[in-house]
Amino acid sequence: MQGEEGKLIIQVEDTLIGAQRRIPVDMVILSSGLEPRHDSKEVSIKFGISCSADRWFIEKHPKLDPVATMTDGVFVAGACQGPKDIPASVAQGSAAAARVLSIIGQGEIEIEAATAIVDEETCVGCKQCIPSCPYTAIEFLADIEKAHVVEALCKGCGTCVGTCLSKSIKLRHFTDEQLVAEMIGAMQTMKLFEMAEVEAVDV
Ligand code: SF4
Ligand code: SF4
Repeated sequence: MQGEEGKLIIQVEDTLIGAQRRIPVDMVILSSGLEPRHDSKEVSIKFGISCSADRWFIEKHPKLDPVATMTDGVFVAGACQGPKDIPASVAQGSAAAARVLSIIGQGEIEIEAATAIVDEETCVGCKQCIPSCPYTAIEFLADIEKAHVVEALCKGCGTCVGTCLSKSIKLRHFTDEQLVAEMIGAMQTMKLFEMAEVEAVDV
């Protein structure tokens, strides 16, 4: 038709006037724009979950754990992760609800064995470690002016250990002494292997 050469044509039913319409256009965008909530960054900090540069929440793993987050017990579902249609959002919501029920049904929670611990004898209360924890697991005990690790929140990532200049935070099972002992053990094992190889060549 005239005026439609080289154009994309949208054909729709205009229910207000009760007629079919043909609309020639240069470009068709099939999805409407969607933005995350303005306060999504603050929410992500409050709940200790990851947020993309575009401020969408990020799941723990897109294939292996699509509704969990890096914080245990906090799940995401639907358009808070990005543009998503209704069936996908409903499926995710059901999956998140099932995960929550499975946790509640257990009755008790297992926490990480390798958590950080503050030595209150040497902690000077400088608070340097508190913002370093990505899981907001370190609190400040104002009455004794010492840092304290909430074990239920600690993931044992070890980030805080490097920030404490007085070496007052240690990671259970990964203390300096244990790591040095591991390295010495590994080197001794390598040396035994080398000696065994030399003996085998001599034979
Ligand atoms: S950085 Fe070390 S000394 Fe400072 S508050 Fe934390 S544990 Fe205490
Ligand atoms: S080990 Fe990681 S999760 Fe635990 S308190 Fe330190 S920084 Fe936080």
